[in-house]
Amino acid sequence: MKQLSNRINSLPISATLAMASKARELKENGVDIIGLSLGEPDFNTPDFIKNAAIQAVQDNYNSYTPVDGYPALKRSISKKFKRDNNLNYELNQIVVSTGAKQSIANTCMVLLNPGDEVLLPAPYWVSYSAVVTLSEAKFVVIPSSIETDFKITPDQLDKAITAKTKMVIFNSPNNPSGTVYTENEYRELAKVLEKYPEIYIISDEIYEHINYGEPIFSFASITEMYNRTITINGVAKAFAMTGWRIGYIGAPSWIAKACNKMQGQITSGANCIAQRAAIAALDASVSEIKYMVDEFKNRRELIIGLLKDINGFKLNKPKGAFYVFPDISSYFGKNINGVEIKNSSDFSLFLLEIAHVATVSGDAFGNPNCIRISYAASTEQIKKACSQIKESLMN
Ligand code: GLU
Repeated sequence: MKQLSNRINSLPISATLAMASKARELKENGVDIIGLSLGEPDFNTPDFIKNAAIQAVQDNYNSYTPVDGYPALKRSISKKFKRDNNLNYELNQIVVSTGAKQSIANTCMVLLNPGDEVLLPAPYWVSYSAVVTLSEAKFVVIPSSIETDFKITPDQLDKAITAKTKMVIFNSPNNPSGTVYTENEYRELAKVLEKYPEIYIISDEIYEHINYGEPIFSFASITEMYNRTITINGVAKAFAMTGWRIGYIGAPSWIAKACNKMQGQITSGANCIAQRAAIAALDASVSEIKYMVDEFKNRRELIIGLLKDINGFKLNKPKGAFYVFPDISSYFGKNINGVEIKNSSDFSLFLLEIAHVATVSGDAFGNPNCIRISYAASTEQIKKACSQIKESLMN
């Protein structure tokens, strides 16, 4: 008898990856799908990073690395934290992992116990809720809407805290809404958390360089929060290195030590060549990636302009990341060209099947009124996708 564990049976499939794979499958069957579901820069990894990887192969970097990463990479990460985030992390506070996703999973696994509650300001990235569940804790959603630019208030945070709250996960710039919390807003949220010293904070800053306004403010740089914040980052989004799989944390040393122990049993050190390449990425000046950020900014203007022109799409202006998260709830309960739209999943499926555009339904991110559209795609693809969406929705 095939008897899988309750753990895997209760785990939802990653909605972002599921949609990407569905789109790929349709493409292989000859349907011309425009993939705007996956959050992945469409640029090539810059040459200076590729050259560092080639050099590492030639220099015979082929053995296991220390579980928590090469000291040389951890030194580069420590410098980067100081340079970009005004954060002091010593090498024993840093753990390198196979992508920021693993960094988040390690952190949840080492801090959470059954019955603990984790606050997720919504919309939140799909894997937070899944990893919290895998860690046998319970996630509690703090809702927001497009009217508040998808931000939660200090009062909402305070009201969501119970005696069981162990953690809150912040993510700015946010996936999927592109929302960026200002320093002042983060300081106000921190004031609430000051009253509850037993709560830990994950600050996921993976999109820090993909921002179109103020520099990103790191939650751990608030003095009172430093000793209980785990800062998550990685090279995937800023350096077009999604497949290289390098993420890392800066955290209190006892948490880093526990993550190192966890990782030692589950995966060991991250890929040796990718770690060497990540050193080149992190040592480089941020100006090296400006051309990508500038291009994302142009595409943001383009997609907002085009989507605003479509009936029933309510939009905010994202300040970072490369997603738009339109509220499309005005379509719920309607019948479009013979297809009944009850919720955001129906809408996203409609766009896939009729407009041939892959998006991700908002309910996977804790907001059932929206869909996520990634604009990490060429301007031609964005134009074509928006025109196909518009056409599909005309009765
Ligand atoms: N983080 C990206 C996204 O949200 C990549 C896919 C994933 O790991 O979920 O699309």
